[in-house]
Amino acid sequence: MSNKKIALITGATRGIGLAIAKDMAKNDYVVLGTGTSEKSVNSLKEEFENHNIDGKAYMLDIKSQESVNNLFDNISADYSNTPDVLVNNAGITNDNLFIRMDDNQWLDTIETNINSLYRVSKIFVKPMIKKRKGRIICISSVVASTGNAGQTNYVTTKSGMIGFCKSLAKEVATRGITVNCVSPGFIETDMTNKLNDSQKEQISNNIPMTSMGNPDDIAFAVSFLASDKASYITGETLNVNGGLFMQ
Ligand code: NAP
Repeated sequence: MSNKKIALITGATRGIGLAIAKDMAKNDYVVLGTGTSEKSVNSLKEEFENHNIDGKAYMLDIKSQESVNNLFDNISADYSNTPDVLVNNAGITNDNLFIRMDDNQWLDTIETNINSLYRVSKIFVKPMIKKRKGRIICISSVVASTGNAGQTNYVTTKSGMIGFCKSLAKEVATRGITVNCVSPGFIETDMTNKLNDSQKEQISNNIPMTSMGNPDDIAFAVSFLASDKASYITGETLNVNGGLFMQ
């Protein structure tokens, strides 16, 4: 039986989550990644096969408690150990000016990005508490610190996430568990591909490092926080944004 550590990354099918999955595999973790559909789970399985990644792809809708419970049961059936590292990465945007935002845009973003933190972290922190060791890393956003017009819903979730991590960090610190955020700036993924070229140029012009980031930039920060080298860091937010926002 392998005694490799296990890392669970929600939303690992593409973008930042996929980069995290690949980097954690390079760091010798068994990598468990999730997608929302059969198609995206299959494409993740292919990524694992093509890159020789030791791990498994699972179906997960973080909006559903039943789906989270199934994920936990499936992992427990497949592995003798529970995840040592949980990366709460899956998230959505659904932008609109506040005055035009409808209830669904507001509620769906809160459900996906923030209520899911409660569901997923709660079920996976319990075995970490028993083991007296673990890492929870949540992917927030630079806009949690700066605000962003058109994203009142998203920014509410991403700044809530930072408060969540600080509070949980205080509760579980004596159990050897750290809880931190990585806060990306603008990173080239499907999420930011919704922006047109002129919006991207405007964003890049405001970034001291003059370009948008790469998903690997975020993955490396996550790998650091997951490592033993970061064992005395908790309740922190690591900003990775090319200088766009400085604490
Ligand atoms: P992305 O390319 O849009 O990928 C989103 C991932 O989340 C996909 O794997 C998707 O699965 C999954 N997902 C979506 N809804 C889900 C649900 N209900 N249940 C479970 N999984 C779900 O996003 P990204 O740009 O990589 O962003 C990853 C994280 O970084 C997000 O939390 C985002 O807010 C944050 N972030 C991104 C940026 C950026 O510039 N890109 C900046 C700051 C923060 P499917 O493939 O199956 O749909």
